[in-house]
Amino acid sequence: MTALAKALRVQAPYPPELEGALERFFPEHLEEAEDHPENEHYLETGIKYKKFDGEWKETYRLRYNCPTCKHRDNAYILPEWKEKKCHKCGDMMEVRDATSIGFPNQDKHGNFFKAGVVEIDRR
Ligand SMILES: [Zn+2]
Repeated sequence: MTALAKALRVQAPYPPELEGALERFFPEHLEEAEDHPENEHYLETGIKYKKFDGEWKETYRLRYNCPTCKHRDNAYILPEWKEKKCHKCGDMMEVRDATSIGFPNQDKHGNFFKAGVVEIDRR
């Protein structure tokens, strides 16, 4: 059961066409289907473990404010990702460090990265 399916209160077994739709529109949520024990702390740490090709990796909190549709959200990304897709409209935004001194420093809200219309913390 995916985080999104849970949020939508969809009970398994759900129709295969719904599974396909979830995967197309929310691939990131499907990666979270299996949870890592450290993930109960991600709100404080800004670090969330996600599985990529069967391997747990640390992903880091990014805050974005989409310039196209104004959607604001958090996302958890690998440090090498250079772009982030808006969860609402799908536009791509350039990923920047959240502070002027760079990764792995966090801003006062615990963000490692920012994208879209955001202010970077000057240190
Ligand atoms: Zn958007």
